[in-house]
Amino acid sequence: MKDCLFCKIIAGEIPATKMYEDADMIIIKDIDPKAKNHFLCIPKRHFKLLAEMSEDDAVLVSRCLKKIPTLEKELGLENGYRLVINQGDDAGQTVFHLHIHILSGQKMGWTPA
Ligand code: 5GP
Ligand code: ZN
Repeated sequence: MKDCLFCKIIAGEIPATKMYEDADMIIIKDIDPKAKNHFLCIPKRHFKLLAEMSEDDAVLVSRCLKKIPTLEKELGLENGYRLVINQGDDAGQTVFHLHIHILSGQKMGWTPA
């Protein structure tokens, strides 16, 4: 997808710190971490919202969800972690290519600040 930051990162046109990559997804460090560890799991096929997700996209997302816990050491998930998928304006979504935030490495509160 032209003009999509994450498609450009997937294509290698914009550099990112890669933690994992396969045919389905890329996992990179977030450039502006909101927790001690903050990664982004990005399915390689571009779509914007869960509401726009095709059956094939859903398979891709489920592969992402199954892969993440297998990377316990690499992503620092040993003591627990949080996954976040921001959807739309109220959630503060800024990149319109669906991605899963992976937050770990610290105790986390529960306030939608
Ligand atoms: P959203 O707000 O859409 O849920 O999440 C977008 C995330 O992408 C933000 O946490 C932001 O810090 C991160 N981000 C924005 N630009 C870049 C970039 O160029 N590289 C990386 N690695 N992360 C980025
Ligand atoms: Zn994209």
